[in-house]
Amino acid sequence: MTNNSMYSRFGIGEKVLAFAEPILQELSPRFAETDRIAEYNQLKVIRAMQEAHVGEANLMGTTGYGYDDIGRDGLEETFARAFCTEDALVRPQITCGTHALALALMANLRPGDGLLYASGAPYDTMEEVIGIRESAGSLAEYGISYSQAELDGEGRLSPENIRAALRDNTRIAVIQRSRGYSGRPTFTVEEIGACIRFIREIRPDITVMIDNCYGEFTEEREPSEVGADMIVGSLIKNPGGGLAPTGGYIAGTRICVENAARRLTSPGLGREVGATLGVLPSLYQGFFLAPTAVASAMKGAMFAAGAYGALGFEVSPGVTDLRSDIIQSVTFGNPEGVIAFCQGIQAASPVDSYVVPQPDDMPGYDSQVIMAAGAFVSGSTMELSADGPVRPPYTVFMQGGLTWPHAKLGVLKSLQLMLDRGIIHL
Ligand SMILES: *Cc1c(COP(=O)(O)O)cnc(C)c1O
Repeated sequence: MTNNSMYSRFGIGEKVLAFAEPILQELSPRFAETDRIAEYNQLKVIRAMQEAHVGEANLMGTTGYGYDDIGRDGLEETFARAFCTEDALVRPQITCGTHALALALMANLRPGDGLLYASGAPYDTMEEVIGIRESAGSLAEYGISYSQAELDGEGRLSPENIRAALRDNTRIAVIQRSRGYSGRPTFTVEEIGACIRFIREIRPDITVMIDNCYGEFTEEREPSEVGADMIVGSLIKNPGGGLAPTGGYIAGTRICVENAARRLTSPGLGREVGATLGVLPSLYQGFFLAPTAVASAMKGAMFAAGAYGALGFEVSPGVTDLRSDIIQSVTFGNPEGVIAFCQGIQAASPVDSYVVPQPDDMPGYDSQVIMAAGAFVSGSTMELSADGPVRPPYTVFMQGGLTWPHAKLGVLKSLQLMLDRGIIHL
């Protein structure tokens, strides 16, 4: 049985396969480079686990207070070593990326301090954390002021705008690495490093924090290796490797991490409490698998960029652009494209493949949204998923894919649906 005849069982015909063939050929040097980065990061993670002396006993969890949890301590040491930081807080009690970011900020800011976003408007969910959108319990309510440095005309970090947005009371400057669901480019670790050096030159007293969501293991270095005091992210994105069922991390200087631990639990208890129950094997194994899972997701993103770019749709990043996150956008210019894309991704899923996603109203959105996710972990965007608001310019965002063959199937299936519905012609 050939691969092509297996694809035909998914309704994917010769036309789509023949169209994909030269695109995949052309991508092969990029895939080789992606594999090389994954290999480097795999070694980094294994080395970190060995240096942290991870043994079978680390995989047992604790209950109750969670005192003397050697598995939790070993996991935190593993993250700190892999991310080249003094310390790390890695906990299932950190519920998501937004929580990890909010925790890091609330723990390291005091009333009267200022927060600066150096990378323009923050990810949507941070608006209520900061108090840009009024919200009970926001940083604003605790007397923390906010300023924002807009990006330059090309969507790059702007030293001039950062200089102008710095205040005497600025305590923390945040750089959001990934574009999230905005139109700007993602910042490479190199660019982030240059920006940190610039901030340090004028204000060496400022703590620099990176929203590292979607960025982990896409490059050989993390922002913590180019001067960031803290990097923060979610375990149901890259560093959970698809296996972590929940959790978030904060890795950075001892003082920043210690403050976060005291805020997560309480002063006096800090990191000494927090039962890990049964999740440690998934958190360790997920971190172990993360570099290759990220590579698979990146290949899927590149394939989507190659295929839809060749069909004349606007893709971002472009097929040859450097990548520093796992997100790919495709702009279709019509609702049918967004819908077919998401339905194709869903139809390729191992879970819920028989569900056909439809655009619907969502709280917090001013237009209908369509989402495709057939995931083992609910809401996991390390697993192949796609979504987009159904409004002009009709852009869909795709991310994740734990294995390259699955990501490939998702893109092929979306192409086939587009062809069947006359949205594209091959
Ligand atoms: C996903 C994401 C967040 C928020 O994470 P959640 O887990 O969805 O709360 C914050 N910033 C960026 C850049 C993200 O991609």
